[in-house]
Amino acid sequence: EIRVRYAPSPTGHLHIGNARTALFNYLFARHNKGKFIIRIEDTDTKRNIEGGEQSQLENLKWLGMDWDEGPDIGGDYGPYRQSERMSIYAPLIQQLIDEGKAYESFKTEDELEAEREKQRANSEMPHYVYEYAGLTDAQKAEKIADAKAQGLEPVIRFHVPENHTYKFKDLVKGQISFDSESVGGDFVIRKRDGMPTYNFAVVIDDHMMKISHVLRGDDHIANTPKQLMIYEAFGWTPPVFGHMTLIINTETGKKLSKRDESVLQFIEQYRELGYLPDAMFNFIALLGWSPVGTNEIFTRKELIKEFDEKRLSKSPASFDGKKLEWVNNQYVKKSDSELITDLSLYELIKAGKIPENPEPNQVEWARQLIALYKDQMSFAAQIVELSDIFFKEPDQLDETAMKELADDDALPVLDAFRAGISELPQFTSVQIMKVVKQVQHDTGVKGRKLYMPIRIATTRSMHGPQLGESVELLGLKKTLHHIDETLA
Ligand code: GLU
Repeated sequence: EIRVRYAPSPTGHLHIGNARTALFNYLFARHNKGKFIIRIEDTDTKRNIEGGEQSQLENLKWLGMDWDEGPDIGGDYGPYRQSERMSIYAPLIQQLIDEGKAYESFKTEDELEAEREKQRANSEMPHYVYEYAGLTDAQKAEKIADAKAQGLEPVIRFHVPENHTYKFKDLVKGQISFDSESVGGDFVIRKRDGMPTYNFAVVIDDHMMKISHVLRGDDHIANTPKQLMIYEAFGWTPPVFGHMTLIINTETGKKLSKRDESVLQFIEQYRELGYLPDAMFNFIALLGWSPVGTNEIFTRKELIKEFDEKRLSKSPASFDGKKLEWVNNQYVKKSDSELITDLSLYELIKAGKIPENPEPNQVEWARQLIALYKDQMSFAAQIVELSDIFFKEPDQLDETAMKELADDDALPVLDAFRAGISELPQFTSVQIMKVVKQVQHDTGVKGRKLYMPIRIATTRSMHGPQLGESVELLGLKKTLHHIDETLA
């Protein structure tokens, strides 16, 4: 049976890169009718943040993923938080110690740093040097007893086999091999605080939870030989590994890093801007994976059906914020208006354009306003900028617009239009457009020379949505004010 997991550390909000890892595991599981499991890797207690787990799970759900086992729903192989699995790790660590495959290590951080310093000075790769080298068992036991008598707390290190080559066939990268020397010497499997390290706990959990495939970012590839050593030490069969290529920020050409401020990287942030979960899911699925053919818009269902791990890319994925906007716009256009209205209304309220508890007529007005701009919006928060003119004093017109208004026909058109709308019994788009027709009739001006001055004078822009609707939503008072500003 295919069983895969997403194993976040609750150190922050859901990042695009992690969301991608989760999503590919999800698609792989669902495509193969396997199981998708969430496990919380929270043994690095200093890095955990309050609410980190909650936020991870919530954002995964928002993206439209569900799971078969996890910290919130349990399952046959729980608990699904590493911090609750101490009693599982402890005897296994003891077993390795008893078998001579792991040992208590007392070198202090200062000693280790001094050691590495010397190695660097000799142009060696920094590595841990076995602290009991050349000692008999008795001497080793004595040294340990001494350290303990001094009150020193040990870490437990795994004894790395010498002259071994670790090979595995990576699902994405193909055949890979590491020499045992490459891992930097005996590595820590239990820290001073008693917590297992990632490289140890991950093996125990993947094994115990019967994980068949580990799909993760290739920042973990150097950890894989350490993990293979532990599988070997216990005599367990490792899962199939697949390491996904890193993500490059198209904007900078550099690896996407959490410090890069040129692009938003947390799912939460996109959510807050009114991006649609279906669009985000679609976009993320194409970060380092491609379907057959050229279509780029897919529902979740279609992605599950199409997903093929053999099509995971071997070259870096490119994160293009502009493309994400485009994908989201595709979804906005075909989404039902109610959803987009709700999201956009929230943005207008957040921006202080609409009161927090709007009156029904204000909601109706906003609904119409949003409908006007729906197809142009890449994401809901853009409504604030797009509809700017409805909420502020008009800016100075730019030169091109001024040139349009300098035309001899502009003034009579605007005068007639102003007079016409002032007398309307009902200020509706239909009536307003009738006035435009009347102006055409009375002045003999038509086409662009007719529409452009009216558009510029009322909406203070040469571009925008339908003229009649825009003017209706501006209302008579504002429209007259805009025209007067223009004529002044
Ligand atoms: N907790 C690890 C991380 O967040 C998981 C790595 C793995 O999938 O093995 O990067």
